[in-house]
Amino acid sequence: MNLGEPVPCEILENPRSSNVRLRISKEGILTVVVPRGFRKSRVLEILETKREWIRKHRAGPKKASFAAPGSGRIELAAFGESWEIRFARDSGSSGVLDVDEDAHLLTAEGSWQDEKTLARLRKWLVKRCRTGLGSRLEELSALHGLPYAKMTVKIQKTRWGSCSAKKTVSLNAKLAFLPPSLVDYVLCHELCHTRHLDHSRAFWEYLERILPGSLDLRKALRGCDHLVPGWVHSSTDFSRRSPREYLTFYLR
Ligand SMILES: [Zn+2]
Repeated sequence: MNLGEPVPCEILENPRSSNVRLRISKEGILTVVVPRGFRKSRVLEILETKREWIRKHRAGPKKASFAAPGSGRIELAAFGESWEIRFARDSGSSGVLDVDEDAHLLTAEGSWQDEKTLARLRKWLVKRCRTGLGSRLEELSALHGLPYAKMTVKIQKTRWGSCSAKKTVSLNAKLAFLPPSLVDYVLCHELCHTRHLDHSRAFWEYLERILPGSLDLRKALRGCDHLVPGWVHSSTDFSRRSPREYLTFYLR
């Protein structure tokens, strides 16, 4: 059965509001502001009637960020891996995730709608990146003679990577969804910071020397946010006010 395109949605309660308001962030997250005590079933009914509005406002280049949820596959382009995800149960999530490394199969309790399940998936993603990005960073570091002290991986909101004065390279787990050429760009960029901490002319020249064509790669990286599927954005990426609940609305 085709459920349709999943749209991540948060429900916010506003005691001062007497009607329901919808908005869509530029990341494509749908926020529904409801009066206090408004039932979830009513929210879904309203979303059904607003289908065309939602479709229209989610159109454009950002649309692809929501390609992965519900599709049953997680494509880690950086590592050339395609993982299948199966949901063992559709409710009562305890955040359990079974990982079959050989078959590239994830079996999770819950669903795309469970914040616990998503948190567990994000943890898995970070772990996969520690080995995947870690081995590539080591290779590039050895190849260019640019040693670093430590590498950390986190899901970050705005930066693909950073490098501290102590030569700790921090990488964003969202890199897993980028093509290998762009991942290499980010890793080389951060490794260059072990020599030049700033973005001086010397830095860019050095980067171009170890990675010819770096300027084009840098430009290409700018339009890449949409490659990251919606579930990777942690709930902190949602509105700063704490939502009453999250749900996924299926746009048919
Ligand atoms: Zn930099």
